[in-house]
Amino acid sequence: MLKPVYVTRPYFPPIEKYFNYIQQCFNQKALTNNGPLVEELTEKLKNKLGVKYLLLVSNGTIALQIAYQIKNLAKKNVITTPYTFAATSTALRWQGANVVLADIDSTSWNIDLNSVDELLAKKEGEAIVAVNLFGQPCELDGLEAIAIKHQVPLIYDSAHALLSTYKGKSIYDYGDIHCISFHATKLFHTVEGGAMVFKSETDYILAKKLINFGLDEHGDIEEAGINGKLSEVHAAMGLCVLDDLDELVSEREDLIALYKQKLGDCVIYQKANFDCQTQPIYMPVQFKTEQTLINAEKALNDAGFFPRRYFMPQHYKFLSNSSEAIEHCGETANRVLCLPLMNGLRKEAIKKICSIIRNSSESNN
Ligand SMILES: *Cc1c(COP(=O)(O)O)cnc(C)c1O
Repeated sequence: MLKPVYVTRPYFPPIEKYFNYIQQCFNQKALTNNGPLVEELTEKLKNKLGVKYLLLVSNGTIALQIAYQIKNLAKKNVITTPYTFAATSTALRWQGANVVLADIDSTSWNIDLNSVDELLAKKEGEAIVAVNLFGQPCELDGLEAIAIKHQVPLIYDSAHALLSTYKGKSIYDYGDIHCISFHATKLFHTVEGGAMVFKSETDYILAKKLINFGLDEHGDIEEAGINGKLSEVHAAMGLCVLDDLDELVSEREDLIALYKQKLGDCVIYQKANFDCQTQPIYMPVQFKTEQTLINAEKALNDAGFFPRRYFMPQHYKFLSNSSEAIEHCGETANRVLCLPLMNGLRKEAIKKICSIIRNSSESNN
């Protein structure tokens, strides 16, 4: 039996390079509190993304919590999507907000603009948290217009979308705050970590205080903050992975192209009806029915492949009263399976996976 192939595996950069950075930490006696490696990674990411206000934080979930805190979402009704990793909503609940779920679009799988607009028009929401699911941007122009029309904050959970672009523009030109995850399973990672990108300098300065207990530069506590700092040891990993990122992206793009060539129209893909670039972080495919998904998953497991059903909103439906939106979302989400995608995945494995899926869908017909 071959080694099992899971949905993903973290990228491990050359260990010598990592040791070199750790050696720097030891030489400079700097482990955390905005040390030189955190500063270096911040500058490099700002240049790579072309953004002005970027703050590294200890994980993507605290990035969301800080964003929700800055926009004062406690006790507010906040509109978000049921189709996302649960952290988008659990962090809302943790910050004391009420989670209001909008419908999703059944082809883009992202939040549906009409649904958001209707909820806001009915005064059922006071802020928007949209998710660029699987790295595919939402309709950023449309959401921006809705947020302006109703005068509500617009936050993006861009955990999957670090490098994605929209109509040839930066996704960071849109929304008030983007929250990004650098967890080990993401395309770019710092083991644990994340970042926030801000439109306004005021929000950036406030966030910088909030992740450091609320301390200002004189050591006075001005706000009730928390500890959300990234350490030097984590930044070291980020600097190593960042050097290799362009190569990681092109390798994954090739793997996705092979999947699509071998699967053809035997499955359905996430689609955008505008020009955009989706960073190659996942390989989600949709089956015609949930039963065909289950059959394919079983056949894949038997052969040592372990795809994942990212994400199933009914598993965290306690978070919201919007049971109708969860049910609608399920009609799409319950047919989506994320196939193995990682750097170093062998082309032979992809061919095997695709032939198993093809065979299992034929035997269903
Ligand atoms: C991974 C992820 C998060 C949480 O990020 P962590 O760094 O693991 O805390 C939040 N939202 C989405 C959509 C994610 O995929």
